[in-house]
Amino acid sequence: MEPELEEILAEVRAARGAVVALTGAGISAESGIPTFRGEEGIWVVGSRHHVPQEMATRAMFDARPDEVWRWYLHRFGVCGAAAPNAGHRALVALERALGERFTLVTQNIDGLHRRAGSRRVLAIHGDAAWARCAAECGVGRLPQPEMGPRDRATPFTEADRRRLTCPRCGGWLRPHVLWFDECYDEENYGMDSALRAAAAADLLLVVGTSGETNLPAQIGRIAAGRGAALVDVNPEENPFAALARRSARGFAVRGRAAERLPEIAAALAR
Ligand code: NAD
Repeated sequence: MEPELEEILAEVRAARGAVVALTGAGISAESGIPTFRGEEGIWVVGSRHHVPQEMATRAMFDARPDEVWRWYLHRFGVCGAAAPNAGHRALVALERALGERFTLVTQNIDGLHRRAGSRRVLAIHGDAAWARCAAECGVGRLPQPEMGPRDRATPFTEADRRRLTCPRCGGWLRPHVLWFDECYDEENYGMDSALRAAAAADLLLVVGTSGETNLPAQIGRIAAGRGAALVDVNPEENPFAALARRSARGFAVRGRAAERLPEIAAALAR
């Protein structure tokens, strides 16, 4: 390990402070789940190609709920078929070593942290395991209906449609995920809890995120602003790496999560 990184981690370990890990799509890339960049996210409706930033919106759901559901069921199928990797497992080991001093904030909806064994997880963009009423009628969180993965061509049957109907008000269910044209909140997405964790962190460990969404960027600013150590793990340049380099106790690790997280977690837990 790079001596400068080792020094930062040893200092955090000795201080016995709080550690927040902030993960993005990159940690699940090595499990075979595509990030939002690249061809895999594209969805075709009729002759039009849609990027995730169009599909994952309230506006699209209101116009074409069936299409949006089919896109999600396709994505959820990919997530369900994937398995946690060494990066997810390293964060489980870190949680077991640090207990209440550890919080995992994830932007991923794939459930791989949970399936790996992480428990102290704030899923700030939601979780594919759940659905809720699209009209927020008060039915609460429901297990994701068992539908199986879908392709782009097969329309819903009557039975499919019933499974996607709110049992309380009879309207559409929606996936329990934050859409691009919606706001964070505490009730669904643990926003306040994530901000509190960032404000108490002695180390912010950022993994596999391009930092283009609002709350993760805010978490980075809060932690850096209070002088927390900042470590970014990503094979590519990104705003968190730049922030880490500007911080007094910061380090940008250029590498893959599954490769670098096990040694980082071990150094913190030693
Ligand atoms: P992003 O797609 O914008 O960026 C992914 C980042 O991961 C990039 O910076 C990339 O360089 C990095 N990366 C790629 N491979 C990596 C690896 N092996 N190890 C470490 N880093 C790696 O993803 P984002 O920043 O998470 O934000 C986009 C949005 O997409 C989020 O809202 C998230 O909810 C959603 N999303 C979730 C999933 C999932 O649940 N797995 C997948 C795709 C997108």
